[in-house]
Amino acid sequence: MTEELRHTERISEPREDEELKEMRDLVERAANTANPLTPDIERLVKNHTKLLRRFNKIVSLSDSYQSQLRDFNLRLELMAHTDPLTGINNRGYFMELLGMEMERAKRYGRPFSVLVLDLDHFKSVNDTRGHAAGDEALRSLCQVIKGSGLRNSDFIGRLGGEEFAVAFPETDCNGAMGAAEKVRMNLEKSEILHNGSAFFITASIGVSEYRVGDTLEMVLNRADQAMYQAKASGRNRVCLSE
Ligand code: GH3
Ligand code: MG
Ligand code: MG
Repeated sequence: MTEELRHTERISEPREDEELKEMRDLVERAANTANPLTPDIERLVKNHTKLLRRFNKIVSLSDSYQSQLRDFNLRLELMAHTDPLTGINNRGYFMELLGMEMERAKRYGRPFSVLVLDLDHFKSVNDTRGHAAGDEALRSLCQVIKGSGLRNSDFIGRLGGEEFAVAFPETDCNGAMGAAEKVRMNLEKSEILHNGSAFFITASIGVSEYRVGDTLEMVLNRADQAMYQAKASGRNRVCLSE
């Protein structure tokens, strides 16, 4: 039996609330007095009690349905924000979070930086080891990025294909360059296992810092350009935007 079913059964049992108890006491008292209630009134009280029980049951069921609906909506929201392959933020949600971070940085005059990361020669992984191995690599590389000492306030997203981004709130470009280098080194030394064989993948990373007057696209484009510079200068390296 599922947890949800058990929950529904448990809370749909009639509750003997105060009102029901009072009603029963009334009937018992009437039965013990010299002048008991007439059979008609007694029947009315019993019917009323029955109706109250049914009403309680309906209220319980409605509570249960509402809580199931809330769970369902939460799950839907999570699905709308998450990349199904890797389980990290999808592009849309990452951009939404980045927009909020940019507003905050603008309002309070705080720094924030972003990195854009593209895997090196990833096509050859698919070509030589198969698409499933490529998928496995994407999943495991996300775990490596997340486990590279990111702060709780940093957030990651899949921009598309084998391209990822990390945002670093309250961090200038020097801090972000340090974090990006750590990510690069961890990726380089992380073994990816698929069908019993192991392989390695590297990444080229571009970093940029938010500047007053920037739009989201401008910060990301600069990081993207820096990433292409890293590719052009030999891959498996981190470059800072100009
Ligand atoms: P470069 O070093 O220049 O970035 O070379 P590359 O081979 O990584 O770049 P390219 O853009 O040519 O190839 C990206 C590849 O990523 C092609 C595509 O098949 C693969 N890819 C994109 N998304 C997925 C995915 O979800 N799963 C798998 N397995 N492969 C993907
Ligand atoms: Mg690539
Ligand atoms: Mg690419």
